[in-house]
Formats: sequence, structure tokens, C-alpha cells
Amino acid sequence: MAKTSGTKNASAKPSAPMWLHNGGTRSKRAYNRSLVCAALFHEGPRSRIDLQQATGLPLSRLSDICGDLLSDGVIRESMVTPAVGGGRGRPRSLLELDLRRLGVACVHYDQDQVTTSLVDLAGAVHWKRRWNAPDTDDAANRLRTIARYLKQTVSVAPEVGMNLVGVGAADPGTVDIATGRAIRAVNVPGWSNVPVVENLSRATRLAALIERSDGWQALGEVAYGAGRGSQHVLFVTLLEGIGGGIVEGGNLLAGRDGSAGEIGHTRVSHDGPKCGCGGRGCLEAHLAPSRLAALWRGASPAELDAIAPRGETAGDDFTQMLAAAQRGDARAQQVLADAGRALAVALGNAVSLLNPERIILGGRFVEAGELLVGPLRASLPDFALPELAANVDIRMAELGDDSTFLGIAARVRSRLFAYPSMGGTVEHPPRSR
Ligand SMILES: [Zn+2]
Repeated sequence: MAKTSGTKNASAKPSAPMWLHNGGTRSKRAYNRSLVCAALFHEGPRSRIDLQQATGLPLSRLSDICGDLLSDGVIRESMVTPAVGGGRGRPRSLLELDLRRLGVACVHYDQDQVTTSLVDLAGAVHWKRRWNAPDTDDAANRLRTIARYLKQTVSVAPEVGMNLVGVGAADPGTVDIATGRAIRAVNVPGWSNVPVVENLSRATRLAALIERSDGWQALGEVAYGAGRGSQHVLFVTLLEGIGGGIVEGGNLLAGRDGSAGEIGHTRVSHDGPKCGCGGRGCLEAHLAPSRLAALWRGASPAELDAIAPRGETAGDDFTQMLAAAQRGDARAQQVLADAGRALAVALGNAVSLLNPERIILGGRFVEAGELLVGPLRASLPDFALPELAANVDIRMAELGDDSTFLGIAARVRSRLFAYPSMGGTVEHPPRSR
């Protein structure tokens, strides 16, 4: 709890210096601030002279704007000595965005738990707390509690030296990004058509965003994890169900209802196991960890049919099966080989349809590792156009659960630092005017 007085003074700024602006009126000054920030974000650290060329702003105006951004803590200045002349060149002053001081407050909720965090725009999680979700079927009640947790999280930001530019919500179901509503989550009773963005924004006085948690994970891995440097990524994650996201050029493919990427309910057989969605043969029904563990233990067809993939936790059975397969248990290896082949059917179809350069596997796929991915790699060419299958790079996710929060940071950062003609602006929040 002890804080130096210096830290306290540094964090005593009355308000965030900028925020995530969702359109509306823009002053010329706000436009120019955005232009400078966008140039620094997309082109990297620059001297004032280089920045003048990049933005076309007169040097005097540019200096004014940079002065403001420096005092607001949005950018910082460093002296760099060029390597030429044996390191004895004249030091140059470079400006860059201070991404470690700018951050977002995030909330990830499901039926049982609410996790909140503070994440900077460079991709580091500074603070995280897990709370119990309220025991209620009333969405308004649940939302009030979530908003209260998030508000408490926002209040911690000054202590970690972070200026918040927005908040983000990771929803367990389907969402409507345009209206900021959670549409439906099968595992959260009563959670239907909930105005999440409006309420979180009002509670925190910050701009808010919502997305499916799987979508955030996909964005997080592409921006900061196993997808860095790739433009066409399919992310697939296994918990008890299977979710995913398709990232194309840094953007998440939404589809009409924001549900694009729900690869768990693509069919890999027409008469396979029953799925929680009511269908048969869905990928997530084939790969539900509880079902795989039951197969390994020799469950009867009737017992297998009674396993509803959704809403169950696999417990230790799946982990025990993986350990057995590792030790050479032939039955466990066969169950995983069959699962890998079912996964290859779904991913093979996706590869032919989407032509991704990288597939990132998260959640319990990481735990299963090569036991499952080995059979997947071996079978993929059987179910996709061979030249597309040959060129896809299959990797394990790197960020774990934090990918959800880092995805929020990734979208906020790309909106905030978009060139102003195309999107966000960097402004003082209205309350400080
Ligand atoms: Zn299904």
C-alpha cells in the first residue's frame, strides 16, 4: 500500500489526457493531435523534422502540439546518438508514443466469475483481480455489479501510473458491436439484449467497447502474441466448447451478427455426437474434453450421448488422459488421434475457405500440445486444398487468459491512433473543458 509521495504527485492528474473518441465534432487542434499520434504509431519514433514531413504541419504548430502531448503524458522524448562516426554523432531528439502510460480497464465476465484488469497499450497487464459473479438471473442486477467492479478497477489506474483511454468488455456470448449490446450467452441465465457499453461507459465516464471474448483473444494473439506479424489469422480455442476468431489485416471479421469465427459449430460429421447447440456432429461436440476423457475411460454410447459439452468443466479427467497418452497408453493416443482428425476436417474446410497464413490454437489445445496437434498436422492435407494446407503455419497461443485483455488494448490502440480522416481522434475528454 505504501506509495512514495513522488508517485502520488505524478498520478495526481485530474483526468485522462485523452480518450477514445467515437466520432462527433472535431476541432482542428484535435485533428492535428490525432495526426501526430497516428504518424508516431504507424511510422515509429520520429524527430520533429521527420514528423513535420510526415504530417505536413508547420514546425511552429507541430512544436505546440508536441508540447501539449508531452505534458499530457501521451508522448515522450528520448535522446538517441546515431551509430555513425563510431557513436560520436550529434545526439538527436526522438518523439514516441508513451504506450506504457496509456491503458484500458478491462472486464471479462461469465456466469460464475468477473475478472477485471488494467492493461497498457504496449501490451502489459499491470493489475488484475478476480471477483465472484452475482448469483442472479436478472441481467440488470448482474450488469450493475460488473459496472461496480469495473469502476473500482478504474480507480486503481492512478496508483499504477496509468492514464486510461477507454474500457472494454469481454462477453461470453454473442454481441452487437454497433449498439454495444450483449445479445445472448447460453451459459449466463437472463443475459439477453443487455446494454453493456452504455452502462459501463456511464459508470466509468470512459468510452467503452464490447466484443465476444474469443474475438478479443484472437485480436490479442495477433497484436501481441503468436500472431505477431501476420495478416490472415484463424484463432481457435478449446475450453469445454470451441470458439474462435478470424483476423484479417488486423481487423476481426464480424459477420452480420458478430458471430463469425464460431468454428465450434461447424459440422465435421453428419451423425456424430450431440452438441449443446441442438445439432449433431459439431466440432466442439467431437472435441469436448469431458467427452474425450469419457471415451478413454470406455464410456458406453448412451453415457457419451448424455454428455452435454456446454456448461461442464472437464475436471482432471482430460489432463489425466493427456498424461496417460504421454506415457504411451494406446487407448488415450487413439482417442487423441481421432480428435486430431476431426479437428483437421473443420480446420481443413476453414483453410480452403479463408486461406489463412497462420492458425493459432489456444485454451486446452495448448495443454494437449503435439498429442493432438501432431495428428492434426498429419491429417490437414486430406481435408484442404493441398497448396493452401502446405502454406499454413499452425502455432500454439502464447498469451493464455491475458489474450482477452490484450485484444481490448489492441483494438483501442488501433482506433485511437488511426489516421484522423479514417477514425478516432485524440482529444481532451469533455468533462475537463
Ligand atoms: Zn453445435
